[in-house]
Amino acid sequence: MSVAMPLSEQSAYYLTLEEKYGAHNYHPVPVVLNRGKGVFVWDVDNKRYYDFLSGYSAVNQGHCHPRIINALLTQAQQLTLTSRAFHNNKLGEYEQYITAYFGYDKVLPMNTGAEAVETALKLCRRWGYKVKGIPDNKAKIIVCAHNFHGRTLSVISFSTDPSSIKQFGPFTPGFEIIPYNNIEALSVALEDKHVTGFLVEPIQGEAGVVIPDEGYLSRAKQLCEQHHVLFIADEIQTGLCRTGKLLCCDHENVKPDILLLGKALSGGTLPVSAILANDEIMLTIQAGEHGSTYGGNPLACSVAIEALSVLKEEKMAENAEQAGALLRSELKKLNSPYIQTIRGKGLLNAIIIRHKDTEAAWQLCLKLKENGLLAKPTHGDKIRLSPPLVITKEQVMECVDIIAKSTDAAF
Ligand code: PLP
Repeated sequence: MSVAMPLSEQSAYYLTLEEKYGAHNYHPVPVVLNRGKGVFVWDVDNKRYYDFLSGYSAVNQGHCHPRIINALLTQAQQLTLTSRAFHNNKLGEYEQYITAYFGYDKVLPMNTGAEAVETALKLCRRWGYKVKGIPDNKAKIIVCAHNFHGRTLSVISFSTDPSSIKQFGPFTPGFEIIPYNNIEALSVALEDKHVTGFLVEPIQGEAGVVIPDEGYLSRAKQLCEQHHVLFIADEIQTGLCRTGKLLCCDHENVKPDILLLGKALSGGTLPVSAILANDEIMLTIQAGEHGSTYGGNPLACSVAIEALSVLKEEKMAENAEQAGALLRSELKKLNSPYIQTIRGKGLLNAIIIRHKDTEAAWQLCLKLKENGLLAKPTHGDKIRLSPPLVITKEQVMECVDIIAKSTDAAF
């Protein structure tokens, strides 16, 4: 097993500061970045890397996309925050734009992804009581094992990942966990008349890019309709062209009752999330019942319009589809004994490392870093490969060379 390259004095300085003054709730790859452009980021020693994480898919449009940065700067000089105590001249236009873009009656703007999920849970429960007629405090939401929907207390209440839940209880009740990609289990769980929603990731990203069988999402949606249950798609990671379509649900022509977006909604500039639904659902929440100081601020609205328009005008879904197919087929050709599985959709991909050392994926990421590509393991032996959607075919080929060279040298 290889030994990591020593850090430069400059990088070591920044790492020491974080170690000393920051909470230890992350375990980053030891690289200190100070610049980004398109598919590339640079470290403090001016070394260039391909970014194969894209800020956990928040930078789909590429780092510092000029149009998005221009929208950010222009609006920042005009008006940044009014709170929702007053109207602003950007919110309505953004709401009109995003609802037309995705085909829903209404949007509820929030900031982080976890907040979008929390909002959806509240909205879904409220709909269950007001519209479906579930007795008070009995509403139940079905979720899937190995999910990742964020880090807030209610959201981790239905996590199955020990490191997310250990010693954080007591937890919020009202959730039933079923196996992912299992229609039979969903069908049984839906028999309970108190079920108001089914929350699902169209692909489980954090779990290691776990792709359900074809037909799972459309069958799940059908079953939800039959049982008068809301189908809630968490597209915070899979949405916004990442998987080769605008939404991952589009692969199966499924239209969620509640759609959750975040991350790339601002092209990596600030936390912007959105909950989309039709009136029957959204209007069950009234003034004073939900909100956020920053939700719907004019800066976020201006940036999100531009981020969405860039995705469409620059055909990022099409590029994700083609570049992703190329990446997977070229990686398969490597026939590396250390790569057990290559899977993905569009540019949301993962490789599973085959090696007796449990640290092998981490070691490979260190080697990739040395060779100019940044990626991070998820759940031990899996490495997500999710570059910005602006990557070209030539760049994909160069990255495959880097991966080949690194796998050969890492073990
Ligand atoms: N939902 C999914 C599917 C995610 O992948 C994530 C983050 O990775 C979240 C929700 C939480 O988003 P945030 O980190 O912005 O709270």
